[in-house]
Parts: sequence; C-alpha cells; structure tokens
Amino acid sequence: MDIYENKEICQKCGGYCCKKCGCDYFVSDFTSIKLATIEDALNTGRISIVSALDFKRINKKLTVSPILYLRERNVGREDIDLLSFKTKCASLTYNGCIHDYETRPSGGKTLIPKEDGNCYSEVSRIEELNKWLPYQNILSRVVKRRTGKTVLEKLKEDVTNLFYDILTRNFDGVMDAELIDVLGMVPLLEEVYEDALFEARKLKKEQNILKRTK
Ligand code: SF4
Ligand code: SF4
Repeated sequence: MDIYENKEICQKCGGYCCKKCGCDYFVSDFTSIKLATIEDALNTGRISIVSALDFKRINKKLTVSPILYLRERNVGREDIDLLSFKTKCASLTYNGCIHDYETRPSGGKTLIPKEDGNCYSEVSRIEELNKWLPYQNILSRVVKRRTGKTVLEKLKEDVTNLFYDILTRNFDGVMDAELIDVLGMVPLLEEVYEDALFEARKLKKEQNILKRTK
C-alpha cells in the first residue's frame, strides 16, 4: 500500500477529519474475521460496530438496509453505534493519533492530505464497504450478544435517539459538516421510521413535563 502520511500538513490542519469522526477499518486491516476478532476489537474500547445505510425505493416504498462494519470509536459513543451524530475520534489526543501509521485504520491511511484542505482518497468507499458483506452474520451476532437486540431493532432505537437529539438540539461535539450530512438524510429516515419520530416527539414532551414539575 502506498504511504500518504504527511505529518506537516496534518499538524498545520489540526486534525479536521479526526475531529469529524473516527476512521473506517477495512476488511484488509484484519488477518481473519471471526466472532472472536470482532469481540476482541470492541473490547479494546477504541472500536465500534457502525453501519452505512443503504436506502432503496421498491414499488414506491422506501426501505433501508444497514451494512455493518468497524470504525474507530467516536467520543461519547458505544461499542454498538449503528446510527448517531458522528463526533471526534476518541483516539485523537493532544499529540495527534494514538496509532502509529502501521496500526492506523486503513480508512485513515488511505486519505491523502492536501494543503488546501481538499484531502481525498483514491480508494472507493463503496467497494471497501461491500467487502464487509460476507461478515454481516458475524457482526449481527455480536450486536445481538451485546445489546440483546437484532440489528433492525437496534437501528430503530438509534434512529429514535437521533430524532430526539435533533428535536432537543443536542449537537454536542458535532461538527457543522456532520450536521449538514445528517440533516440531509433526515427526510429519508422520517419516511422509513415514522413511528420512531413519533416516539422521539413523545419522549421530548414527557421530558418537558418532567422539567416543568421539578
Ligand atoms: S488528512 Fe486532511 S483533514 Fe485530515 S488532518 Fe490531514 S490535512 Fe487535516
Ligand atoms: S484513528 Fe487516528 S487518524 Fe483515524 S480518525 Fe482517529 S485519530 Fe484520526
């Protein structure tokens, strides 16, 4: 793999990409992927199972399928983080990334730093995500073991919490670019998860009543 690291440019930038979100792991970051591999990764406390949402309209009905994969954990997020506002990577310290180049997730290693901030990757994210498809069963089993919920149940819970964060304007640690990305996806989420939106509104109303009675 080509080495794109450029500490000088990244130091000057101050880690914009790391402040927006942790980087993706590629399947090639692991020698083999078994249930124990995923459990060990999550047990480091630095990695989460996350998902990319694939929206499709079939006979006018909008559906969503999550593609599960691993990502460096974000600040304030759990080991199973199927959908939430992305926050700063928990592995970003005052002195930069805790990883040396060798152990850094490939999503970060393949990013080409540019002085003007237009950093980019020549690797196709979709292709890398698709390489996780053969491991969806293993990842789903870990989601169930750790949350007691199926992937779809956990995703619905996360969507409800995301709606609640939006309704209560809980954007702590969320960068503007991330806010724009998520708000762009909200109309699709509202269409698929009407009941989650209803639930989040109900929750907000209950919280307001609680606050007033205190
Ligand atoms: S890769 Fe780009 S955005 Fe990330 S720290 Fe380096 S210069 Fe900044
Ligand atoms: S793992 Fe390192 S390079 Fe990747 S986002 Fe976190 S701090 Fe940045």
